[in-house]
Amino acid sequence: MKKKWNILLILAVILVLVVSIVIYKNITKENTKEDNNFKIVTTFYPIYIMAENITQGAKNVDLINMTDINVGCLHDYNLSTTDMKKIENADLIIQNGLGLENFMDKILNTYSDIKIVDSSSNITNKVEENGEINNHIWTSISNYIAQVEEIANGLTESNPENANIYEQNKNNYIEKLENLQSKYETELSNLKGKKAICLNEAFTYLTKEVGMESISVQTNHDESSLSAEKMKNLISQMKNENIDVIIVDSDDNLQTAQTLSKETEAKILKLKSGLTGETNKDAYIQLMNENLEILKTI
Ligand SMILES: [Zn+2]
Repeated sequence: MKKKWNILLILAVILVLVVSIVIYKNITKENTKEDNNFKIVTTFYPIYIMAENITQGAKNVDLINMTDINVGCLHDYNLSTTDMKKIENADLIIQNGLGLENFMDKILNTYSDIKIVDSSSNITNKVEENGEINNHIWTSISNYIAQVEEIANGLTESNPENANIYEQNKNNYIEKLENLQSKYETELSNLKGKKAICLNEAFTYLTKEVGMESISVQTNHDESSLSAEKMKNLISQMKNENIDVIIVDSDDNLQTAQTLSKETEAKILKLKSGLTGETNKDAYIQLMNENLEILKTI
């Protein structure tokens, strides 16, 4: 009889252990999911700043940037394991679009459930250069506004519980951007038709918006790669057409610009393309104000 009780006791202990393990496993499983927040991942810095503005104050929302904030442009970018890890639990990815993120297929092959918002969906004034669409659309304020609208729409659709906040934030941000835009229009009206050599493809849309006629030299953000022949042609073009402005990114190597400037006495303007910068939500407006001041010196 005592033996029977012992067996029952052992069975009871085993049962308690098994039940405990199952409960423990479920708890830890819950914990790895962390929370039920809506997780938004932006592909790179300019898009992060847009999303940061639209998601301010949104409830149960996490916003992270996939790439390192200082990575710059995503030309020929290869996804790192850290990037892939950041996407793992994402509900939504916001991208620039127009082929800038050539790794999106890889992401969708791995995480087929993730929703994608393409900020470039409503861009109408695309510029084709050397057989490719220039995808640095955000340097034009009107394009930037269209991107902000697209992102706000995408967020509202996929995370309706914050619809009012997204709408309010979008309106506030666009109001600020429109003020910036009218400053550009009034203070740079003298630049219409002005010719400039643009050594960084990121400024095509900015110069176009202020009515400048920019001669864009395709460089993939690396203007030191110009051949001697191309340099010679550029110099004679600048002399023939009286082009006295060279536009570069303030982060660029200045070698080519300096050589051109020495030969032609053209002025070098170091603008900011907004590919990297501070993560405060007014960063774009600040850098575009800085660009405005520099453009006023022409
Ligand atoms: Zn680029």
